[in-house]
Amino acid sequence: MQAISSRKDFDMKIIIAGAGFGGLQAAKTLAAKGHEVTIYEKMSEDEIGRNWFDDVDYKVVSDLGIKLPEGSYRTEDITMVPPFTEDNITVSVPKEQRNWRVNRRLLQTQMIKDALAKGAKIIYDTPCRKLIIKGDKIGGIVAGKEKEKIYCDLVIDSTGIGSPLKRSLPDEFDIVKEPAESEYYSAFRGIFDTYPDQPLPKQKKKIFVKFMGQNGLSRVICEPDGRIDVFISKLGRMSRFEYETLFRQLRIENQFIGYEDLEKCLFAKLPARFPLTKMVADGYAAVGDSAFMATSMLGCGIADSIRGGQILADTIVEADTYTAKALWKYQVTYFKQVAADRFYYDGLRRALFNSKSDEVRFLLEGGFLTEAELKDIVLGKGIYSSVGFILSKFSVGRRKFKYFVEVIKALSKAKKAVALANQIPSRYDNGRVNSWQNKINELYKD
Ligand SMILES: Cc1cc2nc3c(=O)[nH]c(=O)nc-3n(C[C@H](O)[C@H](O)[C@H](O)COP(=O)(O)OP(=O)(O)OC[C@H]3O[C@@H](n4cnc5c(N)ncnc54)[C@H](O)[C@@H]3O)c2cc1C
Repeated sequence: MQAISSRKDFDMKIIIAGAGFGGLQAAKTLAAKGHEVTIYEKMSEDEIGRNWFDDVDYKVVSDLGIKLPEGSYRTEDITMVPPFTEDNITVSVPKEQRNWRVNRRLLQTQMIKDALAKGAKIIYDTPCRKLIIKGDKIGGIVAGKEKEKIYCDLVIDSTGIGSPLKRSLPDEFDIVKEPAESEYYSAFRGIFDTYPDQPLPKQKKKIFVKFMGQNGLSRVICEPDGRIDVFISKLGRMSRFEYETLFRQLRIENQFIGYEDLEKCLFAKLPARFPLTKMVADGYAAVGDSAFMATSMLGCGIADSIRGGQILADTIVEADTYTAKALWKYQVTYFKQVAADRFYYDGLRRALFNSKSDEVRFLLEGGFLTEAELKDIVLGKGIYSSVGFILSKFSVGRRKFKYFVEVIKALSKAKKAVALANQIPSRYDNGRVNSWQNKINELYKD
């Protein structure tokens, strides 16, 4: 009998649930290495994606050689608008460090084509409903209208924030299934025409921080093709009344937003928390928003999902089995390369949303944060509290001394969270992983 020399002789089957960006990047890489990969997508082929532009981190495009679809362009300068004011501050970033604005539908359909060209298969119109669990292992999925059982060796969960697969995991797997009320944004996104005879503003990309005092980030972008991209978000649930009030006020302040809904507006959830501290189990790995990879302050959900998909695929290619132990390397690499820094932004978001409107104005236009510091935040470098930082801010900070102390505390906490995230155990060991997770949860207990 011929000896089994490599894992491929076992004819391992990989299911990618959902044609999300993370899953598609993994599918392309794995299929190129000869793995048997099938993608199950709930939408039909012509419903995939959205005909609008999203920010995609320029570094992921160059690092992973992502082909930019036609019409992609570098994003404009960002103008931040604090609550209850029309004053604003524009952060100018060098052109080569600006994110790309990329047509989501074109990117997603192109990534599907690339994966298929490497040998992956895709089955549309097939919602993945739940995982098949055999003891402490995942053995496949239940999918489609007929609730068919499809067995495999590994399920890559790329179904996004509402993952029904993750929800079907028993509690013993210790994987967070859904974000808590304070850990997601309710978001509205719509593309509108320009209101006739209204001049467009000089600032093409405005971000409204805590618009009308609400805990959320909202955005109005004037696209080069004349369309107006409106995004409204609020932490936790947003009622129809809240959304209508916010939009009405946004229109009053931006009268160029027309009334024709050009791309069927969307109400959706977005992660507003740090990525999952446990993304893997035996036969299972979450990627993209099902692992809470998006950090909305940075607009990097697509980029981080793609990076996550690449790291996951590289881990699988090297692994001999698909156990949590073997897949843990994916999580460690993702944390070291991407996620640890996102804990800083999570800390910043928490601090921002714990601030009152006048305090946000103090941060953004009261001279507390300089334009250079805001630029570092926008570029993903962040600013960290140090003795030098505290001293340099003291003369401005003492004007709002109590709040100044809160800001310093929040920055120190964010720094601690990054350090903790970097302490991810290098090997999978239940005890060590649990103790590491507990320390992170403890930090955010209050
Ligand atoms: C309003 C809004 C604006 C955003 N703007 C930006 C931005 O500008 N830049 C940015 O980087 N990110 C942005 N994001 C975040 C970004 O969309 C996500 O972070 C990113 O798409 C996550 O990718 P993913 O790989 O998790 O898969 P997703 O993009 O979430 O895709 C999931 C896929 O799985 C399919 N699916 C879902 N459930 C099932 C199921 N049960 N069975 C089978 N298939 C299923 C879906 O149809 C979809 O094709 C925005 C999000 C929202 C809601």
